[in-house]
Amino acid sequence: MRIMNKLPASSVRQSSERIFVAGHRGMVGAALVRALQARGGSQLILRSHPGLDLSNASDVQRFFASTAIDTVYLAAARVGGIHANSHYPAEFILQNLQIETNVIQQAWRHGIQKLLFLGSSCIYPRMAPQPMAEDSLLAGPLEPSNEPYAIAKIAGIKLCESMNRQYGTDYRSVMPTNLYGPGDNYHLHDSHVLPAMIRRFHEAVENNHHEVVIWGSGRPLREFLYVDDLANACLHLMQQTPEVVAALGTPQCAHLNVGSGEEISIAALAQLVAEVIGFEGRIVFDDSKPDGTPRKLLDSSKLRSLGWQPRVSLREGLQRTVRQFQLAQQHRSVALTVSAPPGSVNQAARHEASRLRL
Ligand code: NDP
Repeated sequence: MRIMNKLPASSVRQSSERIFVAGHRGMVGAALVRALQARGGSQLILRSHPGLDLSNASDVQRFFASTAIDTVYLAAARVGGIHANSHYPAEFILQNLQIETNVIQQAWRHGIQKLLFLGSSCIYPRMAPQPMAEDSLLAGPLEPSNEPYAIAKIAGIKLCESMNRQYGTDYRSVMPTNLYGPGDNYHLHDSHVLPAMIRRFHEAVENNHHEVVIWGSGRPLREFLYVDDLANACLHLMQQTPEVVAALGTPQCAHLNVGSGEEISIAALAQLVAEVIGFEGRIVFDDSKPDGTPRKLLDSSKLRSLGWQPRVSLREGLQRTVRQFQLAQQHRSVALTVSAPPGSVNQAARHEASRLRL
């Protein structure tokens, strides 16, 4: 095994960069693959979860030892909404720590100079001043419901920073806001707020229900980013020189926020989802249920200063997402049995259908 202390800056080849996208069958990983394929010039290395369990240290070690890789995008993680986080806290902290530790450590051991770690906006304190800037990290207590997951993500950021400080690697971290888009998780209990809403309004239309109940007052404000905009932000960041990125932060506060900068109330979001899906019944807000933090907005000015900006509006992104969701629903029964050529609509629908986890 090759162990390098200081990595040569020239270790990344300029053409046909060999990029390992970890978690490429997830929503973010799939968007990264789309963006990298659209850009061209790289050779993608992809492994499914059943093919390579990134929480298994010896499997990850063998994989890196036998595969030539220039750059890693680490989008594999145990991810879920509030229900999943509160029911499986041990899985959330343990699996995420294992995945991050294994991938980041083996990337370094095998001389990989460039890596992008996907964190999350939940790393910030529950009462962080809004909009939340990068230096809010570790300035106060976390939201208790997803604290184990957030601690694992903070460990991932600190692992990247510490590798950079001690070994001279170029491991970067991004903290995306709430994401949505094709390939999202629509599981009844495991999903985030927006995919859960899409599924509930869709099922209300399907079953001719005239009312949809949304938990909470509808007043909290949230920020959403279309996943392809995030993927473009990641590629944009990875194209910048180490000097440019270093100038945005400090060695111990080097992560960057990625958000749309636009806030919407849960009530307005529910109206918009209903409209896009074609639900014409009543939307009821059950304010006996908790609201969570009143406002959650990222300050993404650092990344924007590099010239990145989101391109897909919430309405357009929702239309695309709902189309993909409905297509997957239609194909759900046949999708898992019919074979289709790579890249075809059927294949995309089959992949989507497999993620509905109904
Ligand atoms: P998904 O659940 O859609 O994708 C995660 C992927 O990781 C899946 O393909 C999953 O495979 C894979 N995976 C999980 N565990 C392992 C493992 N042990 N070995 C190999 N692969 C594994 O999540 P997202 O794409 O939404 O999230 C990706 C990243 O983006 C995460 O780090 C998350 O924190 C971050 N993020 C996501 C946000 C969102 O709103 N979705 C918001 C902010 C950040 P399988 O499904 O087969 O288990």
